[in-house]
Amino acid sequence: MALYVLACLSVFGLTYLINMTMISIFYHRGLAHDAVTLPPWLRRFVATMGIWFTGLDPKAWVCMHRQHHKHSDGPRDPHSPVTSGIFGVLFAQLRSYKKTLVGLARKNPRYTIFVKDLDFDVNVLNRKGLWILPYFVHLGLALAIAIPTGLWALGACYFLGMMSHPLQGWIVNSFGHAIGGRNFDTPDNSRNNHLAAWLIVGEGFQNNHHRYPTSAKFSYTPLELDLGYGLCWTLERFGLLKIRRETLIPAFGEAPEHLPTRSVGKESARFRRESERAEAQAEEASETLSAPTP
Ligand SMILES: [Zn+2]
Ligand SMILES: [Zn+2]
Repeated sequence: MALYVLACLSVFGLTYLINMTMISIFYHRGLAHDAVTLPPWLRRFVATMGIWFTGLDPKAWVCMHRQHHKHSDGPRDPHSPVTSGIFGVLFAQLRSYKKTLVGLARKNPRYTIFVKDLDFDVNVLNRKGLWILPYFVHLGLALAIAIPTGLWALGACYFLGMMSHPLQGWIVNSFGHAIGGRNFDTPDNSRNNHLAAWLIVGEGFQNNHHRYPTSAKFSYTPLELDLGYGLCWTLERFGLLKIRRETLIPAFGEAPEHLPTRSVGKESARFRRESERAEAQAEEASETLSAPTP
């Protein structure tokens, strides 16, 4: 029994590591923020094959994530607990991802403007409406493990390790913007949530990340642990990426805006939300005016 539990944990750990490396290191720290530079062959591999390891389109993921940074916790944030509530984020992120994917496939400038620097298209699976294939492949592999052996928990661990992105996204996007302390006064509700950071390789330190988005390291204080940065450091030893050291978050105590207290930039957040709402209303009004009459 102990051996079986160990096997399950090992399979989950390994598949989760592959999935996290793809999403947190290659998609997020690499493609979205240029905090790490990938060798051209690996960048190409991630752009074309990333979807098979994650179920997520790299271009759509980056596009949605950059919208999140631009409109963080405002009405146009694709996933914010401030506007959707903690549980609502789970569905908001799925809806926004689909909208982003359709917008990119139709070359809608409202979306393409966020990913002008990416020299690759939406993945062919999404262009042909075959987005579900990676899920079927991993489900098939999980069943191939479980059915002949009867080891259903092992198959489930495999599938969860590879395809749990909606859950991971929900934990980071909700708790990382709702519960936890703040080191920096950012115009959003970003927080540093240790539990989310432990579970999702450092991604829970949203407040640090929103203040220093181009830093490959998301932790700041000595008590914050970013396992993702450890992964970056390890992959760099193997020549699989290069950390941009000039944009790293300052060492503890050296950031000029470090807050000695856990104050929240409520005023700046409120101002930002109000101005964004006004901007969205003005845009909607101009769209209505320019729409052709039937
Ligand atoms: Zn965030
Ligand atoms: Zn980011």
